[in-house]
Amino acid sequence: MFIDTHCHLTDQSCGGENLDAVIARAKAAGVNMMICPGADPEDIESAFNIAKTHDNIYCTLGIHPEHAGIDASKYITDEMLRDVKTVGVGEIGLDYHTGNDNRLSQIELFQQQLSMARQYNLPVAIHTRDAEADTADILKNVRGVMHCYTSSWDLARIMLDRGFCFSASGILTFKNADEIREIFAKIPNDRIVIETDSPYCAPIPYRGKVCEPAFVIETARVLADIKNLPLTELEIILEQNTRNLYPKIK
Ligand SMILES: [Zn+2]
Repeated sequence: MFIDTHCHLTDQSCGGENLDAVIARAKAAGVNMMICPGADPEDIESAFNIAKTHDNIYCTLGIHPEHAGIDASKYITDEMLRDVKTVGVGEIGLDYHTGNDNRLSQIELFQQQLSMARQYNLPVAIHTRDAEADTADILKNVRGVMHCYTSSWDLARIMLDRGFCFSASGILTFKNADEIREIFAKIPNDRIVIETDSPYCAPIPYRGKVCEPAFVIETARVLADIKNLPLTELEIILEQNTRNLYPKIK
């Protein structure tokens, strides 16, 4: 089966009243499992509830750096982190592209959530943008995945040494993404997972549309090309990688 390892089903455009149809289209496309991250303080509970009410959907819970300044433990409870459907902490990280004036509070929120992950022995799903040095500095003694990876080969090498996985999104299919394709060509096959980051970053040929989990196949096709593997073989590798990354998945 294909697994969309990162789709914001809490977003009204691909979730909400569209959720049942989105899940049905994903299954029809062979995408039989999804991992829904929390990002906003308001959607933590919603991500958790979607996972709790669907057999094939798990969640990672975390608060995105754009909400720096809040106390994550107000929204993410110990009970949620212990739950069988919560497979990781994320998406968390640093974003100096949109927020450059609050680096310290971003780092504080990031550290707080890394502690949660360590306490519950959960992998982390990392968002990093224009913050490579601090990301490499902080991201120690934890395992996880660099979500929607678009950073440099230098950071990739560091995180490979620390056992991290790398998630390819629809960006891998974009015409101007040669550099990202070259990076994924170099990443060992057993360290790659795929995602849509729905509702963002729809792959070619759906670019400009609301992205949904069914489209993850397009990223898989491009990755199969890069790796010179039959799609069916890559499908098995990616499923195994996802299960290795998130051991709580049944
Ligand atoms: Zn995301």
